[in-house]
Amino acid sequence: MVSVLVERLEKVFPPNTYALRDVSVEIRDGEFLVVLGPSGSGKTTFIRCIAGLETPTKGRILFGDEPVVDVEKGVFVPPAKRNVGMVFQNWALYPHMKVFDNIAFPLKIKKLPRHEIQRRVKEVAEALEIAHLLDRYPRQLSGGQQQRVAIARALVKEPQVLLMDEPFSNLDARLRISAREFVKGLQRKLKITTILVTHDQHDAYALADRLMVINNGEVQQIGTTDEVLNNPANLFVAQFFGDPPINVVEGEGRGEYVDLGDLKIPVKAPEGKLQVGIRPTDVYVAEAPLSPNDVALPPARVKLVEYLGFTPIAVVTWGKTELRAVAYGKAAEGGTVKVFLKPEGVKLFRDG
Ligand code: ADP
Ligand code: MG
Repeated sequence: MVSVLVERLEKVFPPNTYALRDVSVEIRDGEFLVVLGPSGSGKTTFIRCIAGLETPTKGRILFGDEPVVDVEKGVFVPPAKRNVGMVFQNWALYPHMKVFDNIAFPLKIKKLPRHEIQRRVKEVAEALEIAHLLDRYPRQLSGGQQQRVAIARALVKEPQVLLMDEPFSNLDARLRISAREFVKGLQRKLKITTILVTHDQHDAYALADRLMVINNGEVQQIGTTDEVLNNPANLFVAQFFGDPPINVVEGEGRGEYVDLGDLKIPVKAPEGKLQVGIRPTDVYVAEAPLSPNDVALPPARVKLVEYLGFTPIAVVTWGKTELRAVAYGKAAEGGTVKVFLKPEGVKLFRDG
């Protein structure tokens, strides 16, 4: 296997769409990197540059010590010579070919001997538990099975790097979960350097060894999921990654506390205007603090109780100041409740 080094990558589509700006990241040998960003942020362009399906306008990419593209030096290794496996967003199976021929296709292009092709297709199909489907056409398969065929086709060449572009977007919610587990297990077993791009934060949370968040073609943050969750680099990251979504309230730093209007929270902050982020898990309704460091806020009014999955979230108010808080204790709409705050959960931002 191999590490992938991306250095100062830029891709401009004429006349002036900056799909990627100065993107640098190293994906370690055997690592699973998830690239997370909203639609149009440059994810597909990024992964296509690594596959060699797109030519960057600046920067370079190395597989191990080997440059596969270096704009300045005029190096460009064509996709067929890069030894990457790619799973496309719509899976891109050939509808007129049986599953066997779909999987075998990259090997036929390489002109491998027939018995070798037979052996490899059988092996990968068994590993992905689709060996009984080799005689079917793609239209005769479920979404999950089609996805496995697409993955099998990407893996059959025994690539050094596996690239996946939103591979779960065509699956329903239940299948997504099992497909994620499957992809993670497979990646762990093969120890293959993997880059998966997605707009879905749940994919990212479930799969990433490390996460790269991008927006408008620019890297916002690179780190483990916990690092990104606990120390978001900016307001965009804080709002894009985290479930339930973070509260963002305008506030004023006052030295010893932060003023949110009708609520003052005992967190040190320099004087001046701030955006204050607090996750609903860090401000909660309960009878008593969950941990000794948590501070009691003044009693709040419950405006509304909503549900995120099976977790009740209370919208609690102090005058005009409003926060969404996980409700561990009883929270009746219109009632008054005790609310506690984890001070370390208060994120202060100057941007946005
Ligand atoms: P994502 O996969 O995150 O949705 P893309 O990489 O597809 O984002 O696109 C990033 C930006 O580049 C978008 O503004 C998109 O419109 C633009 N773009 C992508 N491909 C092309 C292309 N072939 N020609 C012109 N603009 C493109
Ligand atoms: Mg895309």
